[in-house]
Amino acid sequence: RAKSAGGNRSELADPEADARAITRHGLTTALPTALERGEFFIEYQPLVHLGDGSVRGAEALVRWLHPQHGVLGPDRFIPLAEHTGLIVPLGRWVLEESIRQARAWRERHGEDAAAGPLRINVNLSPCQLSHPGLVQDTVDILERAGVAPDALCLEVTESALIGADDDLLKPLHRFAEMGVDIALDDFGTGYSNLANLRRLPVRILKLDRSFTRGMQQFPADPVDLKIVEGIVSLAHSLDLAVTVEGVETGAQAEQLRILGCDTAQGWYYARPGPPERLHDLALVDATG
Ligand code: C2E
Ligand code: MG
Ligand code: MG
Ligand code: MG
Repeated sequence: RAKSAGGNRSELADPEADARAITRHGLTTALPTALERGEFFIEYQPLVHLGDGSVRGAEALVRWLHPQHGVLGPDRFIPLAEHTGLIVPLGRWVLEESIRQARAWRERHGEDAAAGPLRINVNLSPCQLSHPGLVQDTVDILERAGVAPDALCLEVTESALIGADDDLLKPLHRFAEMGVDIALDDFGTGYSNLANLRRLPVRILKLDRSFTRGMQQFPADPVDLKIVEGIVSLAHSLDLAVTVEGVETGAQAEQLRILGCDTAQGWYYARPGPPERLHDLALVDATG
């Protein structure tokens, strides 16, 4: 572990651990100014309809262009932001920026574009859910941007909702009432309490990449196939749509389409990228 994290550097454990701790500390203290200085940016990854291959929307994935360390992925700083509470203003910024982007896409394509209306998926951390201003902030952002609530999908991880009390579920119900879709992210990695699904206002299951990994080879892992088949049939019987993440090959995409998954996301279609890339993708699909 120390080796893979440290590359060719000394394998002495202590300096490595120190360096990591310093970096973590340094990143944590730099977070608030990073937001003020506009060092965060968003990459978008298309969500593709498995039936007809059209781009239906995109997931917003935040990155930090750190002045010394370069581009940092969310796994490096989201946990720190959650720990310090900065996730609330950062998450609000992500919502604002990506909803503004959704508006720009809509203006470009029009509501009746052949590719279908572009929807925007935004990840929510549990800290944001327990923040009392979340629903009103989101309503304000949508209104200011002139974007309808049904163009927005909020992704919440299954683990964030485990044992969630009613206070945490209340904002989710309010979102659902106003037409914002809720997706259960990384489904299958947590305890997957299927009975729990019934009390959650969730419309979409996002099947974790660990399930699609077994389908990269041919023939696909038969156990993975059975599991995905079962989850899809359960989801559909509960009126939930299934999105699969981590689709890296055409064979996987085909397999998942046959299994009845609705939407897919992954490197096979596109890596996360700047918003202009989605213009091109959506236009290609809209014109055939
Ligand atoms: P996630 O929501 O499950 O997002 C999917 C992750 O899988 C992204 O990693 C994406 O780049 C990666 N991915 C997509 N397609 C493929 C593929 O075909 N193969 C492989 N190997 N990976 C693929 P990323 O961008 O590093 O984001 C990691 C996590 O950080 C996200 O997982 C999400 O939980 C969190 N995150 C990202 N943006 C935000 C945000 O604005 N707010 C919050 N609270 N969390 C965020
Ligand atoms: Mg997500
Ligand atoms: Mg996910
Ligand atoms: Mg994930």
